[in-house]
Amino acid sequence: MKMQFTLAAAALLLGVTAQANTGSAFYGDAPDAHHPWAVHDWNRPQPPRVEPLPYDAEKAKAPAGAVVLCDGTEATLGNWESEKPEGSPTKWIIKDGAFQCVPKSGYVRTKAKFGDCKLHVEWSAPTPPQGESQGRGNSGIFLPGGVEIQVLDNYDNPTYADGFACSMYCVNPPLANALRKPGEWQSIDIEFRRPLGQDGKVTDPGFVTVYCNGVLVQDRVQIEGPTGHKGRTKAQVFPDVGPLKLQDHGNPVRFRNIWCQALPPRTAADVAKQVPLSEEATLAKRKEIAALVRADAAKLGDKPLEQMLRSAESLVYEKDEATAKDVCAKLGAYVAGLQQLSKGKLNDKKDEVKRVRGAFQYLAKFGCCGEGCAPYANLEKLVKAHGWDKK
Ligand code: MG
Repeated sequence: MKMQFTLAAAALLLGVTAQANTGSAFYGDAPDAHHPWAVHDWNRPQPPRVEPLPYDAEKAKAPAGAVVLCDGTEATLGNWESEKPEGSPTKWIIKDGAFQCVPKSGYVRTKAKFGDCKLHVEWSAPTPPQGESQGRGNSGIFLPGGVEIQVLDNYDNPTYADGFACSMYCVNPPLANALRKPGEWQSIDIEFRRPLGQDGKVTDPGFVTVYCNGVLVQDRVQIEGPTGHKGRTKAQVFPDVGPLKLQDHGNPVRFRNIWCQALPPRTAADVAKQVPLSEEATLAKRKEIAALVRADAAKLGDKPLEQMLRSAESLVYEKDEATAKDVCAKLGAYVAGLQQLSKGKLNDKKDEVKRVRGAFQYLAKFGCCGEGCAPYANLEKLVKAHGWDKK
């Protein structure tokens, strides 16, 4: 209890101290039906501190097929342009093997455009640290369509939780604070799946997964819309492709080793195929499969037994009454035929009979047919009478 009180008191103190710098109560949009916290809410807990994983040079290498957007040399500077004026050369500079933000020069964006992608970014905060809260080592990685994954020196610098380094800005704090000290390189890996939709309506919100220095910090977090500042994001369909952007927030944050790998394109139709399907979509698909199986059965007119079994198979997908009736009638004729056979000839058919019984047993088990099909009960009697139900 004492411990809890101490932690709570410390957090409160921390909050009150930092509140003076950026944000405060009555700042961002208020809590609503889906958000228990206000935007930039200092009452939202700070991400817990965890140790970063050691830098993995192998994993950080651009994989085959990835576009290397920045390798810290002049050679890749041409991959970037300024937003103001539109498409003009960037004023950010290459210095000591890094791509460095020049404060007040504006955001930079890639000339290349991306849709769903895997992105690797390394960044380093200025040293010695200057400023507090959102004022210390602030930049941002803007994913195509406008979701900001925050870049901020939070090594020893509290801020509002939804503005923390690796937060989905305005929306979701990172699960943990796995940052290294300012001046050291932070390694960020992002998987971005953009929101999809039809006729301007979002049908799949998309998601973002983020690792900070090897630690999972955003776990398939749903996208709420392009992120801004202070305001709630609003759902919208994202363009198929767009540039990646880096933010100029007035701090000379440095970047290196940025690469982007396109993920297989994903469409609204792909999403409809995802499991678990809605009940409606599942029934529609089952109907479609049943129709295919029935059409196949129709071609087996010269093989009555196979035709019966194939028709019976369609009942697994759809309880079509006419088919069930037909299958049951066919089974009736089959069992009547068996009953006419001499003991010896019936014995020759043991495997076949067991196969038919197995099929109808399955249908009965899954409630597809069998119940209410008198010939199935007769088949069971026949099998048991011969002891064929025993292993
Ligand atoms: Mg930022």
